[in-house]
Formats: sequence, structure tokens, C-alpha cells
Amino acid sequence: MSTTIRTTCPYCGVGCGVIAARPDEAGDWVVTGDPDHPANFGKLCVKGSTLMETVGLDGRLLHPEMDGRRVGWDSALDRVAEQFSATIAEHGPDSVAFYVSGQLLTEDYYVANKLMKGFIGSGNIDTNSRLCMSSTVAGHVRAFGSDTVPGCYEDIEQADLVVLVGSNAAWCHPVVFQRLLAAKTRRPELCIVVIDPRRTATAECADLHLAIRPGSDAVLFNGLAAHLKGEEAEVECGVPLEQIVTFFSWFAETEKTVTLWSQGINQSTSGTDKVDSIINCHLITGRIGRPGMGPFSLTGQPNAMGGREVGGLANMLAAHMGFDEASVDRVGRFWTAPRMATRPGLKAVDLFRAVSEGRIKALWIMATNPAVSLPEADLVRAAMAACPFVVVSDCEADTDTARLAHLRLPALAWGEKDGTVTNSERRISRQRPFLPAPGEARGDWWIISQVASRMGFGEAFAYAGPGEIFREHCRLTGFENQGSRDLDLSGLEDTDYATLAPIQWPVRQPGRGTARMFADGRFYHADRKARRVEVTPRPPAALANPEFPLILNTGRTRDQWHTMTRTGRSPRLAAHAPEPSLAIHPADAARFGLADNALARVSGRRASAVLRVALDAGQRPGEVFAPIHWTDRTASGAVVGSLIDAAVDPVSGQPELKHAPVRVEPF
Ligand code: SF4
Repeated sequence: MSTTIRTTCPYCGVGCGVIAARPDEAGDWVVTGDPDHPANFGKLCVKGSTLMETVGLDGRLLHPEMDGRRVGWDSALDRVAEQFSATIAEHGPDSVAFYVSGQLLTEDYYVANKLMKGFIGSGNIDTNSRLCMSSTVAGHVRAFGSDTVPGCYEDIEQADLVVLVGSNAAWCHPVVFQRLLAAKTRRPELCIVVIDPRRTATAECADLHLAIRPGSDAVLFNGLAAHLKGEEAEVECGVPLEQIVTFFSWFAETEKTVTLWSQGINQSTSGTDKVDSIINCHLITGRIGRPGMGPFSLTGQPNAMGGREVGGLANMLAAHMGFDEASVDRVGRFWTAPRMATRPGLKAVDLFRAVSEGRIKALWIMATNPAVSLPEADLVRAAMAACPFVVVSDCEADTDTARLAHLRLPALAWGEKDGTVTNSERRISRQRPFLPAPGEARGDWWIISQVASRMGFGEAFAYAGPGEIFREHCRLTGFENQGSRDLDLSGLEDTDYATLAPIQWPVRQPGRGTARMFADGRFYHADRKARRVEVTPRPPAALANPEFPLILNTGRTRDQWHTMTRTGRSPRLAAHAPEPSLAIHPADAARFGLADNALARVSGRRASAVLRVALDAGQRPGEVFAPIHWTDRTASGAVVGSLIDAAVDPVSGQPELKHAPVRVEPF
């Protein structure tokens, strides 16, 4: 008998619907795009369409392992609970931490956050989403009083001008970008402006490409804001004045304008300011909350948004509440929490610094690989190696991070796990299992709940399944809400979890999602008004200098994902870029004696990586680009994160991953 399961792609924040189907019990599963899913209407990019090449059991962690030996679940869970409890008893709740992931499902995230913030009593749970969009969260909260994405994907198709800033959407959010290009084919008058130091695949499709100097985004958008207000402004950001004049006049004259941004804005020591400099231009013109217009952050990860919803960031509580006294009290009463955290915990970079300084003595890392992905990755590894107790729960056995763990717990992977994710347009979709759980692997929510139970909190964590957790999360969003908070899922409390169809929050009444926010001009500050945040542009933390004369920008390639633990399994995906390369302008290559295709050593203050030279006239002279994906687990030995200093945005805590001084030399 044929079987069809509707689920969601586990990669980028576009959140495409996927159908997994097989003709009979003996047949192979095949995935295709879900024609009924409103994010993608049947389309998938190459990563989504090769998902079945990535689900094999080679390299999977299938059994709990303690100090390198296989153990039973009971021993493993007892050990985690005992070690965390003993550490808390001796050193207090802030001596332990969780570092989690935008790969977790909302239900997993919810339980982890509840355990740390309501029962352990510390804010020390942060997520790799800190590296992804925490500057946008902070920018939203300052401007709107809430972390709210105002619009939806349809706005991109309905706009007459789409501005992409620091976003190579053609590679990083491919299906949304295809929707934009299809709209432009239907309406060639739709203008696309790309603002990016690099001539990317996205920039190739633009009517206007502003290759601004890295870090000068706020200068440009402050200038635009002044222009929109009829003021004189001097705008120096490394591009010809005519281009700036054209961009400003297009923006000023085009009512239906959407501005999209991504990591090029967020991953900066002034990321929050950059976000607000963009939002300011939409607030000045009133272009927000209406069809075809608005500021729009493209989320990097499949569930970065879901993590934000349940409090996966150390500075948020749960259900989009902060650490104000009323919210702490409200959440504490809802959870009947014995020990509520009353202040924010440590953000990612500070959290690992606390590990290295011995202040964090027990650390649990879930579904992420910080030994590669964080800046100063070499120091992160050293910190983990020195930490008295490190737990890693993951579906992979041999990540760079898992190798440093005392205890490894096998988690379910995509295709096996069950829950929800939220995409960039606030749309909640189900991830449903269609493959059997391999070995002894279990869902993350189950693992966390079992540990909570062994720590003495069993009653509050006695969940029968993810559906029960989802309903509790929905109830919390509606608890004492009365329209005072943006995230409200009270209309989903009684929904049938098994058949839950994709829907955009807030959902205040059953079956009624919300495509656009702020259409009524009311925001979530106490006076219900938005704020235009005064932004003073700042340069990046570290500039090129005689010892390190080039600026390294980092990002994704088209066909790989994060540290390649999944996409690295697919030969088709590997074919696009089989090894990491260093994109460099031909003039810089000549200056430093590098030939196309030769190997180059790239050095930062504390480490080096060896990369294949790729001459690229689309690079600005003085700047190079390298992908983030490769690790020393792969043949290249290139851990780009080790080249980058851990300078962070003072508001959001997001690291500056796109502006690191380096030098290059032939290898
Ligand atoms: Fe998956 Fe993103 Fe590709 Fe859609 S665009 S198939 S969500 S990787």
C-alpha cells in the first residue's frame, strides 16, 4: 500500500513543505515538494530534493556512550541528572548551561528552555541562532516592542521594488528567491536592488547592485532615511554617487517596497543598529504591514524562529516574553516553577568564555557543532576539553563537538523526529516522521524530559508526546495575553496535532492565521507605537592592517549546510564545491603571489586554514570570501571559525563573522 507523509525541509528558514512517499512497504521513499504548502508550492532547491541521499545510518550515533563506551539509557540519563544536580547543589544554577540549536524542533526547544529557566533556575540556555539572527530579534524589539516579522512571502511577489541587503538569497534561500524571479518574469517592471560587497549569484539578477564597503550598511540606510525626510545627507560607502542617487530615488518613489536582509546585516558588531536603520526607512514611509511592503528578515535556520518563540535565546524567557518582573511571575505561575530564572543568561560567545574560565562546570550541547561554527573555534574546543562535564545529544556520532563529550546521547534525525518548526514568515509547519527510529535513538524532547524527571521534576515533564508539549506551548502564549503580546497561539490549543496544516502566527481563533502584522498601525511598545531608533554608524571591530591586510567575509555555498554533517553525505551536493575555496579578486591574488586553483594559507591572529584559490572579479579588492562548512573532520582541515575573533554586537551578542582581518600566502 502506498504511503504519503507531509513534512518540512530541515535546512533553511524558507521552510518548504516536503512530501515523502513510497509505493509500498518494500519500496524506497522519494521526496518531492509539497504543492499545497504555501511556502514553496511544490518547489524544492537542490538541498531539499537530495534529502533522501542524506538519511543513511552511516556515521549515526545509535546508542548512548559514556567515556567512549556503550551504556544503556538508564545509566546515561542517571549520570546526566546526577552530574547536573550535584554541580547545581555545589556551585549554584548558573554553573550549568545548555547550548542548543535552530535544528531542534519547537517542542524540543520548549522543554529544554522550561527545564533551564523554570526548574534549574538559570537563564543559561543559548542557541546557535545567536549566530544567525539575534541582531534582528534585538532590532525588532527596539523598533516594534516585539520580535515580529511584519510580512509574508507573498509581499515579495507583490512588491514593485525588492531590496536585498547582505543576503545571497539565490544560494541561501533558493525557493523564496525563485518566487521573486518568477514574479519578475511576470512583471518585468519589478525592480531588484542588491546591496552586497560581493557580486553574488543574487547580485547577478539585480537591476542595480551596490557593492558597498563592508560594514557601511547603516551609513547607506541612514542616508536613505535622511533623503526620505527631505534632508541633505552625505553618503560615503564605497560606491559611485550615481548608484546611491538611483537607489534613493527608486526607494522614495516606490510605495510597494520590501527590504529583505540576512546574515550580511546580522553578523556584525553593529548588527542591531543596521537592522534598525533599515526598519527606520519603512517606518518613515509607513511601508509596513500592508501588501507588497515591509522590512523582512530572512531566517537562516529551519527553526530559528521557533526557538525564538519558546525562549531559546538566553535573553528571552518563553512565548516572546522577556525578563521583566511581570513576565517572570507569569511564566513561573504557568509552569508552577520551583526556581524561576530572574535574569538573562549568558549569550553564546560569553557562555563558552564562561566554560573556558571554569565558571560553567556542566554543559549540555544539543544538535549543533560549536567546535567549528563559533568564532575563536580553537578556544571553544579548548574550553570544552577542560570542562568537567560535557554532554552532547546529536544524531551524528563523530562531530568535532561530539568528540569532546564525556557522554553522547543518540537523538532522532530528520525523517524520524516529530514536531513543529516556524519559517521566516511566521508559518508553523509540522515535521513528521516516516522512517523508523534507528538503534536506541530518541527524540530530544524525550531525552530532556527524562533527565528533568531524574532531577526530581517529573510531574512537570511527564509528556506523552510532542503534541502535548505543543499544546502547553500554545496555552502559555495565550496565558494572560489579551492582545498584549504578538505571539499568541491560543487558537491552536485544541487543534488536531496530527493533521495540523501550515499556519502563520498569531492564531487567536481556530484556523485563522495572520499573514501581516501592524496593519492597524499598533505595535507592542506600551504606548502601541513603533520607535525610530537613532543609529550612529560604527565601523567593524577590527580593520585591515599591515600585518593582516585583507578582510575575510564568510558564508554559505549553494549546496552545503552548516558543518556538512548531513549534506556532506550527498555526492550530488558535493559535486558543486568539492572543497573549500578562497574567493579573491585577481589583483589581490597577483599582489600576494596566488595563482588560480593553487592552495593558499589564510591566517588570522590565532590560526590558519588552507584553501583552494578561486579568482573572482566579483570580489571587492581588499576582501576575500571563504565558506563556513568545512571542518577538520573533512579532508581539508579548514576551520574558518578559528580565523575569526569573537567580537560581538553589544546589544544582540551576535558575533562579527563577516569581517575578520587576515593575510594570505601561497601554501
Ligand atoms: Fe529546503 Fe530551503 Fe531549499 Fe526550501 S529553499 S528546499 S527549505 S533548503
